[in-house]
Amino acid sequence: MNHSVTLIRDKCKGCTTCIKHCPTEAIRVRRGKAIIVAERCIDCGQCIRVCPHHAKRAVCDGLDRLSEFDYTVALPAPSLYGQFHNLDDVNIVLAALLDIGFDAVFEVARAAEIISDMTRQEMGTPGALPRPVISSACPASVRLICQRFPGLMANVLPFMAPVELASVLARREAMNKTGLSPERIGVFFLTPCPAKATAVRNPIGLAAPVIDGAIALSELYLHLLPVMKKRPDLPDLATAGLMGLGWAVSGGESAALLGESYLAVDGIENVIQVLEDIEDGKLPEVEFLELSACTQGCVGGCLTVENPFAAKARMKRLMKFLPVSRNKVGPGDKPLASWGAFLSHTPVFRLDADMQAALEKQARIEALAAQLPGLDCSSCGAPSCRSLAEDVVLGFASEEDCIFRMRERVMYLSGDGDAEQFLPPPFRRDPGAGDN
Ligand code: SF4
Ligand code: SF4
Repeated sequence: MNHSVTLIRDKCKGCTTCIKHCPTEAIRVRRGKAIIVAERCIDCGQCIRVCPHHAKRAVCDGLDRLSEFDYTVALPAPSLYGQFHNLDDVNIVLAALLDIGFDAVFEVARAAEIISDMTRQEMGTPGALPRPVISSACPASVRLICQRFPGLMANVLPFMAPVELASVLARREAMNKTGLSPERIGVFFLTPCPAKATAVRNPIGLAAPVIDGAIALSELYLHLLPVMKKRPDLPDLATAGLMGLGWAVSGGESAALLGESYLAVDGIENVIQVLEDIEDGKLPEVEFLELSACTQGCVGGCLTVENPFAAKARMKRLMKFLPVSRNKVGPGDKPLASWGAFLSHTPVFRLDADMQAALEKQARIEALAAQLPGLDCSSCGAPSCRSLAEDVVLGFASEEDCIFRMRERVMYLSGDGDAEQFLPPPFRRDPGAGDN
């Protein structure tokens, strides 16, 4: 997996802030630096948001990549429109994308309306999709399901994310218009989050990438601002209605299904909570589950520039001027948008391929976790005492990494039992108190 989220090693102070916020326990701190365990990372961007030293970043493509192609198409995420004050016409943004060097634009919102129409049809066909249907649009949430909730993989909508369908349709349009071969056309997604940048390189449910690169909204913003102007000759490039633009915020995808039994959940901790409830059968009335790892949906992605709540308000204002929908499923769209492969479980929490060995390791983890203090202080470089126990049993850490174990060792080595003075204040015991 070629992840977007990476560490800037020189900036990392090893403060352990990020390990506490990672929803998949994918970070450890070793020798004063954070390490991301690649197979566990879902590129949710939480660690980018919380690092006080700006030591995590999302690696995306730059505008310089446009020169690699003879013809380029921009795929603007609907959340792009929420980044600008007083925007009342999407065409201002789309024309500015042409001004900064793209040859054409294809709105992701247009493909979103096609996916919405397709989903409505499938959900209206008895027995076609298991309930609840779970949206496939947020790659961080889908990767989370593949890691932690494999029993729900069959519920994920087996359609491409709108950006992937947009790319396939945009390339086809460009080939028809220019006569160029597909590899000479560069199709770039303007992304609000690192999870989607990673999905561009490592698509879910597809055999190979269908998009040539991902450019962060935050990078484009400064290029677009100077050329965004209202002018009499503004071309009419907008192709989507409010249903498509609504996908930018949590609840928009669900609203486009025109049903009532849906749940729209945003924020990765809430996503985990609701998936646990669904797995436990606590929400039988839910027909459709929309998941967004970011607060308020894609407008809250960590590659946006605007406060997600302000961006959401702007999207609502902008949508007032639009028709409900401008796109429907066309002939051939469904096979085009359907996944070619089933989701596969990412067994990052499997202790051993052999069941007996896994059970033995599980027992050792339980025993060791019970001996550790349970403070989850992260001084050992793991997110919790339990994860340290796992790391020890799997051979990635030592029991002595626990500061309380270190105290015992220092007491033993000093011979007089006076090790408290060497510990930081939070970990010193009251005189006369028992162990730990
Ligand atoms: S939050 Fe994580 S990445 Fe940032 S400085 Fe602390 S340990 Fe390093
Ligand atoms: S991007 Fe998310 S899953 Fe990956 S290391 Fe950061 S917090 Fe963890």
